[in-house]
Amino acid sequence: MTTWRYAAATDTGLVRETNQDSILATERLVVVADGMGGHAAGEVASAITVQVLGRAFAENDTVVGLEEGIEEANQSILADAFDAPEHLGMGTTVICVGLTTDSQGISSPTLFNVGDSRAYQLRDGALRQLSQDHSVAEEWVRMGRLTSEEAAVHPLRHQLTRALGVENGIEIDVQTLDVQPGDRVLLCSDGLSNELSPNQIATLASSPVPLEEAVQQLIARANAAGGRDNISVVLVEFDSVTPTNERAISGVRKVAPKVASPTLPTRSALMATRRSRYTWRTGAFIGACVLVIVGFFAVLQWYARSGYFLADDSGQVAVYQGQPHGILWYKPTKVLDTGFLFSQLRPGDQRALAQTISEPSVAAAVHYATFLYTAWQQTQTGSTTTTTTKTTKG
Ligand code: MN
Repeated sequence: MTTWRYAAATDTGLVRETNQDSILATERLVVVADGMGGHAAGEVASAITVQVLGRAFAENDTVVGLEEGIEEANQSILADAFDAPEHLGMGTTVICVGLTTDSQGISSPTLFNVGDSRAYQLRDGALRQLSQDHSVAEEWVRMGRLTSEEAAVHPLRHQLTRALGVENGIEIDVQTLDVQPGDRVLLCSDGLSNELSPNQIATLASSPVPLEEAVQQLIARANAAGGRDNISVVLVEFDSVTPTNERAISGVRKVAPKVASPTLPTRSALMATRRSRYTWRTGAFIGACVLVIVGFFAVLQWYARSGYFLADDSGQVAVYQGQPHGILWYKPTKVLDTGFLFSQLRPGDQRALAQTISEPSVAAAVHYATFLYTAWQQTQTGSTTTTTTKTTKG
C-alpha cells in the first residue's frame, strides 16, 4: 500500500491578469496544468484537462486509464476550440502523478508528462528533476546543441514541442517512480521553476515544515523573485510505500500518439481534420468559387444587355437594349423612340417586329426602322409594288 499526504496551491503571480494554471490534488492523484492561449482560453484548456483526468482516474486507476485520460483531455480541448473559435490555439501542459493500480492490485506512483511543467523528487534535502521539458531549448540541450545554462535564457525556452490541444494524438512520457517513505515529490508550473534556482526549490520544498507551509513559501519566494507568470505548486510526501521488490520500476517510457482509425474517425478526429482544412485549401476553394460565380454573372450580364431590338411602345416604334424577354432580373431598357408609329409599318413587318429581330447597334436598329417605314410609305402611295421584306442583315 502506497500512501501520501499532499498540499497544493496556485497563484496568479504579480504580472499576469488571470491565472491560466489549473491544479488538482487528492489522496491518489495530483495534477498541474499550465494553460496557454488568449481570451482566457488557456484557463479553459487547463481546466478541461484537470477535470477530465480526475474523472478518468476515478473510472480507471491504472496507467492505461491515465494515458487515456490525457488523450481524452487532448481531444476535448481540440473539440472545444473547434466549437468556440475564440478558443482556437489554446493548449496546456499537463504533469501528474497517480497512485496507479497494476493487475495484481499493487499501487505505484506513476508520473505522466506533456509540456514543460516539472516534477522533482526530494530525498534528504537533495533535488532531482524527474521530468524532461518538452520545449525547443530543452530538446536542443538533450541533442547537445545548447548547454543547460544557455537553455535557461534561450528565447525559445518557452516554445513547447509538445502540449495538449495542438494536434490529434499526443506523445506522453510515462514513468513509474522509485520512492521511499519520507520522499517528497513536487509538481510545479514554469512560473515556479523559472523564478527560482534548483537550490532554492530544494531548500524550500524539503524544509521540515508542514506541506502547506512549504507550498506557501515556494509561491511567496517565486513572487518575490518577480512573479512574472502564474505559479502552481503541488507537494506530496510519501508515508508508506509498497516495497520496490514487489513492483516494477520503469524508466521513462514514451507512449506513442494514439491517432484515431482512418476508417472510423472519432468526432474529435473529424474536427481536427476539419480544422486543418479551414486553412489555405478552404481559402483557395472559396476564392475559386467566388471567381466562377462572379464570372458567370459577368457573362450573363453581358449577354443580357447585348443587342438591340425594335418594339411597339404604346404605338411608337422604339429601340430597346437587351434581350427581348429579359434574362433573370436583367430587363431590356428603352434607348430611344424612332419617331415612327407602329401603325406605319406593313402588317407583315409588325408581326416580324413582334418576333423581335436583333440588331447589333442603336444605329442599325434605327436604320432598320427607317427601312421598314419607307417600305410602308411605298405601300401607301401605291407607286411601287415592292414586297421586299428585310429578313437578314449584314
Ligand atoms: Mn506558465
